[in-house]
Amino acid sequence: MKFIVGNWKMNGTLDEKEAFLKALKNVKTNNKIIICMPFTLVYGNDHGITIGAQNISEHANGAYTGDISGQMLKDADVKYVLVGHSERRLYHNETNAIVKAKAIAAIKNGITPIICIGETLADKKAGRTMTVVKKMLLECIPEKCKYIIAYEPRWAIGSGKTPTLEEITAVFETIHKTLHQQGCENISLLYGGSVNSNNAKQIINIKNVDGLLVGGASLKSDTFLPIIKSID
Ligand code: PEP
Repeated sequence: MKFIVGNWKMNGTLDEKEAFLKALKNVKTNNKIIICMPFTLVYGNDHGITIGAQNISEHANGAYTGDISGQMLKDADVKYVLVGHSERRLYHNETNAIVKAKAIAAIKNGITPIICIGETLADKKAGRTMTVVKKMLLECIPEKCKYIIAYEPRWAIGSGKTPTLEEITAVFETIHKTLHQQGCENISLLYGGSVNSNNAKQIINIKNVDGLLVGGASLKSDTFLPIIKSID
């Protein structure tokens, strides 16, 4: 079983959610489909697909206006949450330490964090991809091996560009080895960044790639369904 995870970002109304779920209702797949929706849409996890969230507070409760705690997500029956997406790091100054704290908060509430890591274009151009990815990984992972890692090169997100298959292979090998050294054997690893129905199958067949994280192409069933079908 592979994971196909959608990230709706700040998109989606209740009508759009219902239309999307209706379109996906009868899809036959052996893979696990999770859509990380905005907080307003996470409630109601009773469909063939699993609804996840896009953020979680590192705090348990209290004076943190606008934040949503792990307990609140648990109440809404959320089972997966993205943490450390590059847009959160960029627009909300989330550091590796904050990302780790968020991952711990999720695990405490029985929610699997999908920890996002990835290098910038400047890192890539300077030949620092492996060093940056490894450092981010080690600084973001909690002690308990109860998380998913999403490798998303920042320059690949929403750009229509992806690393070569060889580059993805090398990064996943590094992530896999690093987690092994940390005593974590069965962590699922996702690739994210400009995935579409033309490249999904090739990417998911790369060694150590256990799934995909899909942004733009997950917003409409017209573009998401072909991805699901292409890898089944
Ligand atoms: C994302 O934002 O997590 C992502 C992978 O976006 P896109 O698929 O649009 O590149």
